[in-house]
Amino acid sequence: MLAKKVETAMNKQLAMELRSAYVYLAMSAYCEAQSLPGFASWLRAQAQEEVEHGMKFFDFINDRDGRVRLEALEQPPGDFSSILAVFTEALDHERAVTRAIGDLYTTVVKERDYASQAWLDWFATEQVEEEKSVGHIVDSLRRIGDKGDAIFFLDKELGERK
Ligand code: FE
Repeated sequence: MLAKKVETAMNKQLAMELRSAYVYLAMSAYCEAQSLPGFASWLRAQAQEEVEHGMKFFDFINDRDGRVRLEALEQPPGDFSSILAVFTEALDHERAVTRAIGDLYTTVVKERDYASQAWLDWFATEQVEEEKSVGHIVDSLRRIGDKGDAIFFLDKELGERK
């Protein structure tokens, strides 16, 4: 059984993961419009991953006899000033998710909910990977500038993500 505080915090994180998917989809749509199909498909795969993260919370809340409550999702950004802006915003977003997972972790520890704590370890580790992969793309874009031939090749490379 989930403590009420933990249930509320888990539902909040479920919404944040689903909203992350929404943000990445908005970014993917922007890249499609810029004729950058590789970036678009990378971001679309990222959105799919975020839906899977959300569903992990959905299942865990149910498994622990909690009650899933779905919240309204805030509208994602409609436009971006450049491909570099897309990925710097994505990095900011992942850092915010890392902080949110940290807050959730603090809540479950305070409630002495060790099953939730062990389960959340996966998310804490996953955030290291998320910040690293988005951070690498930001670095590449800063290095090559977000125009020209190099973008074409980076687009090709990112398009290879399954
Ligand atoms: Fe996530």
